[in-house]
Amino acid sequence: MADQTFHYDVLIVGAGNAACSAAHAALDKKAKVGILEKASRHNRGGNSALTGHMRFVFNGLEDIRPLVKNATDDELRVLLERMPHRTEAEHWDEVMAVTNNQSDQEMLQVHVTESRNTVHWLASKGHDWTPSGGFKMPSDNILLMNGGGYGLQQRNFAALEKAGVAFHYETAATELIQDQTGRVIGVHALTPAGFVKFTAKSIVLACGSFESNPEMRARYLGPGWDMIRLRGVPFNTGDGLRMAMHIGAMPHGSWTTCHASPQDINLPPYKIPIGYSTEGSYARYMYPYSIMVNTQGERFVDEARDLRGRTYAAMGSAILTQPGGIAFQILDAKARKMDIYPMNYDKATTAKADTLEKLAAELDINVPNFINTVREFNGAIQPGEFNPDRHHLDGKCTAGLPINKSNYSLSVEEGPFEAFPVRCGMTFCYGGLKIDAKTAQTQHVAGRPIAGLYACGEMAGGLWVGNYASGSGMMAGATFGRIAGTNAALAALQS
Ligand SMILES: Cc1cc2nc3c(=O)[nH]c(=O)nc-3n(C[C@H](O)[C@H](O)[C@H](O)COP(=O)(O)OP(=O)(O)OC[C@H]3O[C@@H](n4cnc5c(N)ncnc54)[C@H](O)[C@@H]3O)c2cc1C
Repeated sequence: MADQTFHYDVLIVGAGNAACSAAHAALDKKAKVGILEKASRHNRGGNSALTGHMRFVFNGLEDIRPLVKNATDDELRVLLERMPHRTEAEHWDEVMAVTNNQSDQEMLQVHVTESRNTVHWLASKGHDWTPSGGFKMPSDNILLMNGGGYGLQQRNFAALEKAGVAFHYETAATELIQDQTGRVIGVHALTPAGFVKFTAKSIVLACGSFESNPEMRARYLGPGWDMIRLRGVPFNTGDGLRMAMHIGAMPHGSWTTCHASPQDINLPPYKIPIGYSTEGSYARYMYPYSIMVNTQGERFVDEARDLRGRTYAAMGSAILTQPGGIAFQILDAKARKMDIYPMNYDKATTAKADTLEKLAAELDINVPNFINTVREFNGAIQPGEFNPDRHHLDGKCTAGLPINKSNYSLSVEEGPFEAFPVRCGMTFCYGGLKIDAKTAQTQHVAGRPIAGLYACGEMAGGLWVGNYASGSGMMAGATFGRIAGTNAALAALQS
């Protein structure tokens, strides 16, 4: 095998959602497609196979009807009462709000305006969506991908294999090959049998960011990030970024910030996508209804400055900077009575006590500080109705605290009290490569496009800075994956 050379029109590195979208698009143009995947066939799927939903523009029944097979029009109308639309302007504004107006505007324009087309295109490839289960599901959208990202990826693999795409598993790309003109013409990859050379007319890099690489995390994100645990796969070690930057690809976007969210204290070091489960998830996203304290018994963040789907990706960093890198979500008996826990909290690491003193003592939280924090918090809650609506802020805030809570302020006064210890879980990094938003072609530091080289998914930088809106990674992966695959194939078939 080591002496073999494989040749394709379009060679795609990685087999996540961005890669599979690129493959579908390249097939649409009749290109011969090969895919290299570092993981084994059993462990395939990437972070994409661990996801739940995509965030896209829609307006009413007309837009979501073609996506959903397992619900009637009437059921979808009821669903739409929760959230009737996400217009292009609303979507643009929320990304600009979460990124503090720092999202790359050319990228965002494409991301927003192509999102509806892209989900309908995915439906034409055999994908479908299902109504999200409301409160019991840890999702922010009214629709989930059927079977989650795991289902999406299973359908992708089946369809692409059937269409003749050649998958090479346990094949890690290590180096890009260029010709004398600087055009990228292939990839060296390491397999269990040794190095293999792959040549192609166009190469699409879709092999994730550097979230699984402790050295790169420490280098770009800073102290403490080397030791964090991953929410996802251990395979995204920045290989594509390193290979591309080695030949002069321009880095882009925020390399010092990343997506990281509150996770159960017992989050394993990484996760392999071997089945779909939301119940088993370690995500601990009740914090907007809780107060979060550190081991000093102090609040350190506004737990509900915005909707959960627009704050959770920044909450991991806030927790990491606390003593020991941990925090506790504290709720009283009212939350149980209101039945607002998502179902994955059934398996959460937890402590429960009749008094706040006992709860704090059990968890080694500074007791007097904690009692004081809770007393001050309860006393600062302003009049108004608590409403744990996922899609609308309730405005029930505190006033006069050093760190106020902007919404969902539920007093902590009725035992038994519950505490959920949480840590920072790394999702993916925002730093990536500079691509042309219209073609997904990578850009050279000299200011020219790199012939033959495209990038998409986590590898494309610029959209996310400091924060993110839930469901955007999969949407961006599909949108720019489709664009990359289309343009890579067009260029390949013209050459
Ligand atoms: C637990 C979890 C839940 C999430 N939930 C959501 C959600 O609900 N909605 C959402 O939009 N986003 C979600 N995300 C983020 C989302 O997973 C990513 O934004 C998205 O999957 C990125 O897609 P991708 O194709 O770029 O990367 P991936 O799906 O990670 O694919 C990259 C692939 O490249 C392979 N690879 C790496 N290096 C090499 C190499 N050298 N050679 C060959 N192959 C290589 C990897 O093995 C992997 O299969 C979640 C992430 C996690 C971890």
